[in-house]
Amino acid sequence: MTGQEALEAAKRYERDIVTFLRELIAIPAESGKERARCERVKAEYEKLGFTASFDGLGSVLGRVGSGPFTILMDGHIDCVGVGDPAAWAYDPFAGKLEDGKVYGRGAVDELPAIATMAYGMKLLAERGLPAGVQVVLCASVLEEDCDGLPMMHLIETEGVRPDVVVLGEPTNLDVYRGHRGRMSIEVITKGVSAHGAHCERGVNAVYKMAPIVADIEALHARLAHDDFLGKGTVTVSWIDCTSPSFNAVPDGARIVLDRRLTVGETPELALEQVRTLPHIGDAEVRVLQWAGAGWTGLAARQEQVFPTWVLPEAHPLVQGVAAAATAVLGARPAISRWTFSTNGTATMGRLGIPTVGFAPGREELSHSTGEWVAVDDLVKSAAVYALIPGAVAGREAS
Ligand SMILES: [Zn+2]
Repeated sequence: MTGQEALEAAKRYERDIVTFLRELIAIPAESGKERARCERVKAEYEKLGFTASFDGLGSVLGRVGSGPFTILMDGHIDCVGVGDPAAWAYDPFAGKLEDGKVYGRGAVDELPAIATMAYGMKLLAERGLPAGVQVVLCASVLEEDCDGLPMMHLIETEGVRPDVVVLGEPTNLDVYRGHRGRMSIEVITKGVSAHGAHCERGVNAVYKMAPIVADIEALHARLAHDDFLGKGTVTVSWIDCTSPSFNAVPDGARIVLDRRLTVGETPELALEQVRTLPHIGDAEVRVLQWAGAGWTGLAARQEQVFPTWVLPEAHPLVQGVAAAATAVLGARPAISRWTFSTNGTATMGRLGIPTVGFAPGREELSHSTGEWVAVDDLVKSAAVYALIPGAVAGREAS
C-alpha cells in the first residue's frame, strides 16, 4: 500500500473516525473511572472485527493479525479533569466539531490516537497485515495518575510481549523518540514540640527544613544539561508541617520535590544528590509511592520513579515510522522528543523495549482548556498507522 492509497482509504473512514472521537470525548473518564469509555472502545474494536478484551486493570485490548513479531500501539484512555468549567469557552464534553477541528477534553491528550490507531488497523486489515506480524491495540487506563504503570501490568502480569511500541501521545504528526524521566522525592525533618510561649525548649522542624529548601534551589542550578532532552530540574512542589497547635513548635516538616531527569541522571544519582545536601543533617529522604486501583477494582502500587529514555535516531523503529509518515505526508517529519512523561517510561525506560511516538495534536495544548485536533490530521494519522506495521517489520527483519 502506498502513502497515497493509505490516505485515500483513510479518507473514506473520516466520518467514522470523527464520530468515534467525538463520542469518546462525550464520556468523562478520569483515571480509575474509565469504565464507560472503555466499554465504548471495546464495542468499536468488535465492530471493526478485532478480538477485543479488557485486561485486569481495565485497559482495552484489540488484536489484529498473528505472528511472532508483535507491535503494541498504545493510546491512554484516561484524561485529566476539566478544572473550573467556567474557564472553558465551550462544553469540554460536547465533542464540538467546527471549522474542521474537534474540540474538548482529550481532543489532544490523547483520544485521537485511540480513534485513528483503530481505523488505521481496520484499513490495513482489509488489505491484509504483513506476514508474521501481530498488532495489539491498547487503550490504557491510569496513565495520567501513574504513567507507565498500565504498561508494566500489561507486559509483566498479562504476558503481552511487544517487540516494539508505538505511543499515541501528541507529536503533531512528527516522530518522537524519548523524554526526560521524573521522580517524586519526599524530605522529612523531625523536631521536638514545645509551647510557643517557651519555644526555646523545642526544636523547630521547619527551621531545620529552611536551609534544605535553599539547598534544593542551589542544586537545581547545577544539574546536568542534555542537548536533546534538555536540562535536569528539581523544584520544591509541596511543603507542610505537623504541629500540636498554632501555639506550638512544629515537630515535623515535609517537602516534596518534583525532579526531572535528563540523560545520564539515574534515580539513584538523584536520591544521592538530595541525601548529600550541605544542610540535610538527619532528615529522612525517600521516594514517594503511588497506590490506587483500576476501574475493575484491581489494586496497584508503584514507586514514583519514571526513568528517562531515548531511542537512537538511527534505530529501525524510528526510521520505519518516519518512512511511513513521509509516505503519507509527502515530507519527512521532524524527529524530536516530548517535554512531558509518557507510558514509554515503562516500555523503554524500565523494560528496554524500543518505543517511539506518533500522533496528531500539539503537545502544548494537553491539559489546557484549548484542546483541539484538526480532522485532516486525524485522517493522515490513520493512514500513517496503517503503514507502520509494514515499514517497521520490514526493517526489523533486514
Ligand atoms: Zn497523554
